[in-house]
Amino acid sequence: MVIGGTDTATVAEKVARVQELVRAAAERAGRDPASIRIVGVTKTLPPDANATVEAAWAAGLRDFGENRVQDAAKKVSTLFTAVLEEGATLHLIGHLQTNKARDAVRLFSLIHSVDRPGLVDALQRRAEREGKRQDILLQVNVAREEQKHGCAPEEAEALLRHAAAQPNLHVRGLMTIAPLVDDPEETRPVFAALRSLRDQLQEATGIALPELSMGMTNDYEVAIEEGATIIRVGRAIFG
Ligand SMILES: *Cc1c(COP(=O)(O)O)cnc(C)c1O
Repeated sequence: MVIGGTDTATVAEKVARVQELVRAAAERAGRDPASIRIVGVTKTLPPDANATVEAAWAAGLRDFGENRVQDAAKKVSTLFTAVLEEGATLHLIGHLQTNKARDAVRLFSLIHSVDRPGLVDALQRRAEREGKRQDILLQVNVAREEQKHGCAPEEAEALLRHAAAQPNLHVRGLMTIAPLVDDPEETRPVFAALRSLRDQLQEATGIALPELSMGMTNDYEVAIEEGATIIRVGRAIFG
């Protein structure tokens, strides 16, 4: 609900609104709405905003995303304590430095930002030591934006083969960040390109890549129409 330009909707109402738009976008695309996971991006929330996160949980949000390992490490014993006890899933969506691989493996169920062989190697070593099989996504810089992380599309096959050969890693799919533009329709080709790259990679390697992490507040409806299985929504829920 928008009154006088100020968004007064509660977190529960915002989650419900996103769920409703996800359902509508899935139906437009002839997809099952249950096949799309909404990751609530909590990076702007302070560590003591427990009531906000718990309200989102109560409204049905089950997945939470952070973009920095250090922030997540702090929030696990503060912001996320109650929802983790209930079974919440944590996602790392931001750039990962190799020297943070150990903490990342300890903290996150799914790491979306694997984009280079050295990081694959570091995650394999840490996951083996932790006795964990770590789920990962390969981040691809489909739009070839210079300031963005992610491997180039032509590097993705070699990276996939390398990651898939690691016994303690499980590649689940691909992730991309679309350029920030006013009209979400402009991002449609980026999402379509990630899906098409996924199809090509599956064909070339025989490795199943069921997950496509793409779409944020501005453009998640378009991303779902183009095949997103995971959307990462910050402002629309916690803004
Ligand atoms: C911040 C962030 C998001 C969420 O962005 P919103 O526009 O607030 O929905 C999604 N993905 C990544 C990688 C982010 O850093």
